[in-house]
Amino acid sequence: MKHFESTVIANQPICDGWQELTLCWNRLSGTPAPGQFLTIRVAQTTTPLLRRPFAFSGFDAQQMHASIIYQKRGPATEVLTGKAPGEAIDLIGPLGIGFTDVAKRPTGGVAEVREAEWRAGAERIRALVRRLRPRAICFVGLRGARAVLGPGARPGPWPEGLEGAACFVLPATSGRQATYGRREVLAGFRALARWLEEVAPP
Ligand SMILES: Cc1cc2nc3c(=O)[nH]c(=O)nc-3n(C[C@H](O)[C@H](O)[C@H](O)COP(=O)(O)OP(=O)(O)OC[C@H]3O[C@@H](n4cnc5c(N)ncnc54)[C@H](O)[C@@H]3O)c2cc1C
Repeated sequence: MKHFESTVIANQPICDGWQELTLCWNRLSGTPAPGQFLTIRVAQTTTPLLRRPFAFSGFDAQQMHASIIYQKRGPATEVLTGKAPGEAIDLIGPLGIGFTDVAKRPTGGVAEVREAEWRAGAERIRALVRRLRPRAICFVGLRGARAVLGPGARPGPWPEGLEGAACFVLPATSGRQATYGRREVLAGFRALARWLEEVAPP
């Protein structure tokens, strides 16, 4: 993570109310991972004072360009829409831990993930939980949950927890998952909300 002054490469509308902003990326900040975000101070004035967060929508490692897609919502995004190529822009990033998929490789489905990848992913998730010490975690998708928790993992609270964190399992939300219907998945998310109130109240 690094605070730096970047330069706008392009800032173009992509549809009504939405724009894509492409920025020069500072090599010293490291490569952003999918699911990470940056914060922008859109002006060196007191309004808007606070930085605004935006997720990365793309990263070109050869040209060292990062991009975000943003919606015009209020004062900061209004200022952002007026940024022209060549203008300086104040950034902090990359921030966050990124997406927490058990297997990081893009595939056409869980069947394509090899056993060694599940094992390596399970180790990485356990290490991440030990490092971040969340009060509660939730797996969405039984195959990934079973890779980490064991073959007995099924929807609902997982009483043993994981590395000290309370743990809950939900079926995948993908339409390709045929075991649990939409109603059951929705009921699972409602049960998760009630469970969270108990194990990790705000
Ligand atoms: C981690 C993270 C990543 C984000 N990624 C994106 C992204 O990729 N693209 C994108 O368009 N927006 C993203 N947002 C939301 C974006 O930060 C806000 O839309 C922006 O800060 C609005 O600033 P504003 O001054 O234009 O509007 P404001 O006047 O601050 O807000 C306008 C409206 O947006 C709501 N809002 C403001 N800030 C947030 C926020 N942080 N989260 C949810 N709602 C908010 C307000 O309640 C209000 O309804 C992200 C937010 C977070 C927390």
